[in-house]
Amino acid sequence: MSTRGETAAPEGSCDLLVIGGGVNGVGIARDAVGRGLKVILCESRDLASATSSASSKLIHGGLRYLEQYEFRLVREALAEREVLLGIAPHIVRPLRFVLPHNATLRPAWMIRIGLFLYDHLAKRSRLPGSHGVDLRHGAEGAPLKQELTKGFVYSDCAVDDSRLVVLNAMDAAARGAEILTRTACTAARREGALWHATLTGEDGQSRTIRARALVNAAGPWVTDVLQHVLHSNSQDHLRLVQGSHIVVPRLYDGDHAYILQNPDERIVFVIPYQGAYTLIGTTDVAYDGDPAVAAISPAETTYLCLSVSRYFAKPVRPEDVVWSYSGVRPLYDDAAQNTSPNNPSTVTRDYVFDLSGGIDGTAPLLSVFGGKLTTYRRLAEHALEKLAPLLQAPTKGWTHAAPLPGGDLGGASITAFARDFAGRHPWLPADLASRYVHSYGSLGEMVVGDARSLAELGEHFGAGLYAREVEYLVTHEWARSPDDILSRRTKLLLEADTAMREKLAGWLARYGRSEARAVS
Ligand SMILES: Cc1cc2nc3c(=O)[nH]c(=O)nc-3n(C[C@H](O)[C@H](O)[C@H](O)COP(=O)(O)OP(=O)(O)OC[C@H]3O[C@@H](n4cnc5c(N)ncnc54)[C@H](O)[C@@H]3O)c2cc1C
Repeated sequence: MSTRGETAAPEGSCDLLVIGGGVNGVGIARDAVGRGLKVILCESRDLASATSSASSKLIHGGLRYLEQYEFRLVREALAEREVLLGIAPHIVRPLRFVLPHNATLRPAWMIRIGLFLYDHLAKRSRLPGSHGVDLRHGAEGAPLKQELTKGFVYSDCAVDDSRLVVLNAMDAAARGAEILTRTACTAARREGALWHATLTGEDGQSRTIRARALVNAAGPWVTDVLQHVLHSNSQDHLRLVQGSHIVVPRLYDGDHAYILQNPDERIVFVIPYQGAYTLIGTTDVAYDGDPAVAAISPAETTYLCLSVSRYFAKPVRPEDVVWSYSGVRPLYDDAAQNTSPNNPSTVTRDYVFDLSGGIDGTAPLLSVFGGKLTTYRRLAEHALEKLAPLLQAPTKGWTHAAPLPGGDLGGASITAFARDFAGRHPWLPADLASRYVHSYGSLGEMVVGDARSLAELGEHFGAGLYAREVEYLVTHEWARSPDDILSRRTKLLLEADTAMREKLAGWLARYGRSEARAVS
């Protein structure tokens, strides 16, 4: 085993190579490097460029999974809400959900039992419990159809999904991990106690590294990596399920969300998004194409519009949709346990590991199937519980109490921190100060640097994006392209017109050239 700063692994080798820079890969890399292992992570595109940025952006227990008796998963996920609020209070925020009662779908007693379990399955200190609500009065019922008079309110959390990934990668790097974006693992073979892996960058340059253990966290490509990179004859336990979301102009006032029951027994979320919008999702459709090009179908758009229009007084129409995105869930399919094998909604959202090698002296391989954003930290701990003894690393977890970058607010609540931040930079427009706080937390000071006015933040690309922030993202967060910045580091995509994109692309090209000159 190697310890930080003093590594046993020679140049070109590491203790652990992680394939995949989604939430599960970066979570495992962070946990492993914090236990003193020398870690390399490779991601073929940008961090969070696949499923981990196409989610409903919820840290949630998953009320619906109680119906499928997934008590282990729900308990773990409920507990993680509080842990993640503690370590990442800047990007995770409490969210109240309104569940309008529809007696034709689920009786009230069943919902009350479900919510009682939801409130009590795991320890809860930061989030309020559930209660009934009279929808005839107040903001919760205001946008809904008049015949909906009764409902329930319960707590979960919202998260900036792609930033959760980036922050884990940043912390892993700060602790000594090598994070290689735009670098694919193109081949790997086991030779006794070592893996020999070929990593290929976007420029076609390859390097070979040796690793004592390999983690395959390639999400929807997990079996692809097994078959075409590792050439193993794995049994295919992966079930790909596409989920799509639509975004429409804001449907209602208030910062609560809705959970709507559908006659097909599924549920659809309606969530405030980026101030001016409402996010609606998701669908569950069996998928067998390339996960990189998943896109919403007209049928999915219609389904989501109908789901909302069943409850909201003002119908939502496909022509209201300003943006949509789709992701592919890499679910573990244990046909034996799945009671409705043809229904993608009932495939478990829990995670499963496939571990080979290790005990017999051969280099271990751990493949990750399934999982949720919510449980990524526990998934990583469980992965290390399996790998740490094989790599002679500490078996005790440490990530539950270690803030993610920017998450250490010096004991202040996020509200108090935001007030102080705005007070320290009174020249920052309120919405920009708030965006910095909720994206970067205490690292917001690094973004602002010594600027004392908007002009000192440098070139303005539009929508409150200035050169200083872009420089920070390129220097500290592996951002390279306009899309890295607009879709995954900031989520300003909906505000960005072509002129803004072009300006940003031009700046990135110039910056890249000057960086290259500085190095040479
Ligand atoms: C529609 C939808 C909504 C969801 N909503 C929620 C939610 O609200 N809350 C929640 O908790 N969970 C949610 N989930 C689940 C959650 O998003 C996923 O479980 C999680 O993001 C999976 O992360 P991952 O790291 O396994 O996969 P990914 O994020 O897909 O990461 C895998 C990475 O591996 C890379 N890769 C592949 N092959 C290689 C290679 N050869 N070399 C290098 N890199 C490679 C890919 O480029 C990719 O970036 C949702 C999922 C979907 C689809």
